[in-house]
Amino acid sequence: MGESSLGVYVHYPYCARHCPYCDFNVAVARAIPHDDYRDAVIAELRVRAPDFAGRPPAVSLYFGGGTPGLWPAGHIGAVIDAVDATLGLAADAEVTVEANPEDVTPATAPALRAVGVNRISLGVQSFDDALLRRLGRMHTGDGARRAVDALRAGGLEDVNLDLMHGEAGQTLAGALADVHAAVALAPTHVSTYQLTIEPQTAFGARARRGEALLVEDDQLSVMYGAVRAALRGGGLEPYEISNAARPGREARHNTLYWTDGEYLGLGAGAHGYVHRGAGAERWSNARAAKRYMAAALSGRPAEASREAIDAEGRLEDRVLCGLRLDRGLAVDPTLDARFGPTARRLADQGLLAGLPDRWRATDRGRAILDRVILELVTG
Ligand code: SF4
Repeated sequence: MGESSLGVYVHYPYCARHCPYCDFNVAVARAIPHDDYRDAVIAELRVRAPDFAGRPPAVSLYFGGGTPGLWPAGHIGAVIDAVDATLGLAADAEVTVEANPEDVTPATAPALRAVGVNRISLGVQSFDDALLRRLGRMHTGDGARRAVDALRAGGLEDVNLDLMHGEAGQTLAGALADVHAAVALAPTHVSTYQLTIEPQTAFGARARRGEALLVEDDQLSVMYGAVRAALRGGGLEPYEISNAARPGREARHNTLYWTDGEYLGLGAGAHGYVHRGAGAERWSNARAAKRYMAAALSGRPAEASREAIDAEGRLEDRVLCGLRLDRGLAVDPTLDARFGPTARRLADQGLLAGLPDRWRATDRGRAILDRVILELVTG
C-alpha cells in the first residue's frame, strides 16, 4: 500500500432523512434519481480516468455517502463494472458499500455479492435505543444485530461497524457496553467516532442555544482511551485514531488516504487526489446533487475547487496523515532531510518513537497529536 496504490471513492448523496448531527453532503429526495445518478457517475469516471492512466489496477472501490445502501445493487454493479473496464480493479480489490441497519434485508448481501461487493460498513453508532433516538437514528440496537446476522447469513463476512461516543447523555459504561455489543458480533473492523457538533446542523443550532450535547473534554479523553482498550481486548487492534481491525483487516481504502495513495473521487462533493511529479493535485466536485448530475451528464464535471500541492506541501501531508496511524510512517531520506532534526527533538521529549526507520506517536504524543504534527511540520 502507499504511493503506487490507487483507490476509487463514489459518493452517493441521498439519505432517507437527515440525522441532526450530520454535516456530510446529503440530499433527502422524495424520489431518488437512481438511474441518472448512476449514469452521471459513470460519465464522470470516463472523463477523469485518463488522469490515472498507466497506474496499476485500483486496490479499493468505496461507495460512501449519504446512504449508498439505498442504491439498487444493479446500479452499484454497473459502477463497479465501469471502474473495472476503465481503470481496472485488482483481483483482490476491497469493494465496500456503506449501509444503515434499517435498510439491510436477507436479500441485501446476496444481491451485493453478486455484483462484486465484498465488504459492508454499517452505520450502527450505538446499541442503546435511547441514545439512538437522541441521535435521530431510525434503527434500534436489536435492529443492528439483525442486520449483521442477515449480512453474515447472506455470505458477507467482512463487516465494519461504525460506533459513536461522546454524546452528553452517554456514560463511560454506556460507551463500553456499545464496544462489547459490537465485539460480540465479531466484525472484522470497527470505526469509533467522537460526536462533533458542526455549526450547520440541527445539533449546531441547539448548541448555540446553550444546550450541552457533548460530554466534558476530560471525560471524552477517558472514554476514548477506554474504548480503544476495550476494542483491543476484543481482538480488534486499534491502528489509527478512529479505527481498529482484526489482523490483516485494516481498511485498505482509508489507508490509502493516510499513506499518500492516489484516489479518484466520483459523485457530488467527492474529492480526488493525483500525484504530479514530486507534488500533487487535489480537487472537489460541486456538492449539490442536481448540479453535479447535470454537469457530469453533459461531459464536463462541475468542480468546486482545484488545488496544486507542491513537493513541500505533499511532504507535510505525508507527515500529517502518516502520524494518524499507530504504526506511524516509514522514514525516507527526503522526509529525514526536511523534518529529521525536529523529529529527533520530539523523540527526546518522549512524543515520538520508532526512530530512525519510523516516526510514530507515543501514547503521550497521541494525546496531543495535533501539537506534535504542527511542531514537526513547522520545525
Ligand atoms: S444516514 Fe449517515 S450520511 Fe445520512 S444523514 Fe444520517 S449520518 Fe448523515
